[in-house]
Amino acid sequence: MVRENEIRSGEVAVPAPPPTDAGLVFIGSIRTPWTSRLETPRQGRTDGPVCRIEVFDPWVDALDGLEAFERVEVLYWLHLSRRDLVRQSPRNDGTTRGTFSLRSPVRPNPIGTSIAALDRIEDGIAYVRGLDCLDATPLLDLKPARDLFTPIAPPQPGDFQIG
Ligand code: SAM
Repeated sequence: MVRENEIRSGEVAVPAPPPTDAGLVFIGSIRTPWTSRLETPRQGRTDGPVCRIEVFDPWVDALDGLEAFERVEVLYWLHLSRRDLVRQSPRNDGTTRGTFSLRSPVRPNPIGTSIAALDRIEDGIAYVRGLDCLDATPLLDLKPARDLFTPIAPPQPGDFQIG
């Protein structure tokens, strides 16, 4: 069940430190069709609407080369989330689970991640499908999807020498 900022039966909030945003730099803005959390998808789907990731100056040149990847990983700051719940009730039925066992937007550092299908990049804007955030959600990072990279082989005997 989608939440606004309410506390549900059984949930536990803690006196969280005041947010400082940890020195992160918002490098763009994500433009989506959704203006209410109640209507935003819980997880993005690659058959969802095309959304625009607008990268701010001076970061536009950092997009160069990303067009070679069909899937991109998008990291964003779920800026309207409360950040003080350690236990949450996803079904709002009085039963609760720890925050780190959930993909809820409510977390001490409200970072959202999605793997999105890249449609194209034009004039500093990446057009993607597969997001689940409100319009004007701040962008933290963009990178090629991790599943497009071959894992590095485990170390073999003799690869390292100590001393
Ligand atoms: N896909 C990401 C993940 O797994 O890390 C986010 C998943 S989270 C369940 C998606 C929900 O966060 C949306 O359905 C909406 O209710 C909420 N949401 C989206 N954008 C938000 C924002 N900017 N601030 C606060 N909540 C937001």
